[in-house]
Amino acid sequence: MARNGKPIWPVLSSGIKRRLRVADGTKLPLIAGHKLLYRCNLACNMCPFWRRDDEELLSVEAEKRLFVKLADSGVLFLGFEGGEPLLRKDLPAILAAAHERFHTSLVSNGLLLERRIDEIARHLDLLFVSLDGEPALHDRLRGLPGAFDRTVRGVEAARGRVPIALNTTLTRSGLDDAPRMVELARSLHVPVNFQVAYDYSHAGPQSPAGPQFRATLEILRELKRQGAPIVNSRAYFDTLLHSWFDGGTRWECKPWLTINIDPAGRIVLPCYTLNEYGGERTVWETDLPELWATYDWDRYRACNRCGLSCYLEPSLFRWTSPELVKHWLLDNTLG
Ligand code: SF4
Ligand code: SF4
Repeated sequence: MARNGKPIWPVLSSGIKRRLRVADGTKLPLIAGHKLLYRCNLACNMCPFWRRDDEELLSVEAEKRLFVKLADSGVLFLGFEGGEPLLRKDLPAILAAAHERFHTSLVSNGLLLERRIDEIARHLDLLFVSLDGEPALHDRLRGLPGAFDRTVRGVEAARGRVPIALNTTLTRSGLDDAPRMVELARSLHVPVNFQVAYDYSHAGPQSPAGPQFRATLEILRELKRQGAPIVNSRAYFDTLLHSWFDGGTRWECKPWLTINIDPAGRIVLPCYTLNEYGGERTVWETDLPELWATYDWDRYRACNRCGLSCYLEPSLFRWTSPELVKHWLLDNTLG
């Protein structure tokens, strides 16, 4: 059995080993999110990263050492992001090394996909391409006229070469466009994942709130129920509505399921939203199982401050929920 040219047995076998290590309640990271750089060829209003001037990059050899450490610590899924990862010339070598050990994904703004998809497609299990709304809104939020058209051309170039999904950030100025993004995804024959914008201290405020945000979440939940190509689980929309609008109990956030790593290999704790990429210790100088066992994760259980799907969806996952097991393991990871 293979996925994107890669046998899935090694990942399944690592998953079984991990399951045995955490059977007694031991906390270990399952997913790693790694920024490969902060630089970007866009200047998005809601993004703090392209504004930074403290970027330090790891060599390919250092990246490989990092991957060994992550795999030994229970990580199964490795997601690359930035900045714009396709600005790195050594990206194919980094992805190839990662793909030997992990289920790999990459977030790109799509501008360079037409030019570089041949180099990276075979090393990826999933490619997310960011598109925030219709052309006028997307270009305005992303700070580049013509960005929407170039990104769509990138999606068309990548489609069929690698599993691909649009990644749409729900911003306060983009709520009207959200249902239309589902239609765009349909017309491009790819699914779409929704993220809720978070207000970083060094970026333009774009986090949505109020009745229109609530209505948008309800519309997206209904579209999902009707079978629209939306990556998020129904539980994701249910949970945001329940906790943020209906006065329901807070969801239990489990930021320990995800380890975030900055471009220099430093660990970002407890999550990148609260920490804003101010990592201190590198992965290779840290005993990760020890750190994960002693860190005060309980402080963040009821945080509920961000609705980022990369944290909320893993926090919601339950082996006892047939709907979530089917959604993530069968429909998304293996499907
Ligand atoms: S494309 Fe991504 S990394 Fe680049 S500026 Fe926009 S949000 Fe930031
Ligand atoms: S809900 Fe709070 S602890 Fe959890 S990922 Fe978001 S900001 Fe971090």
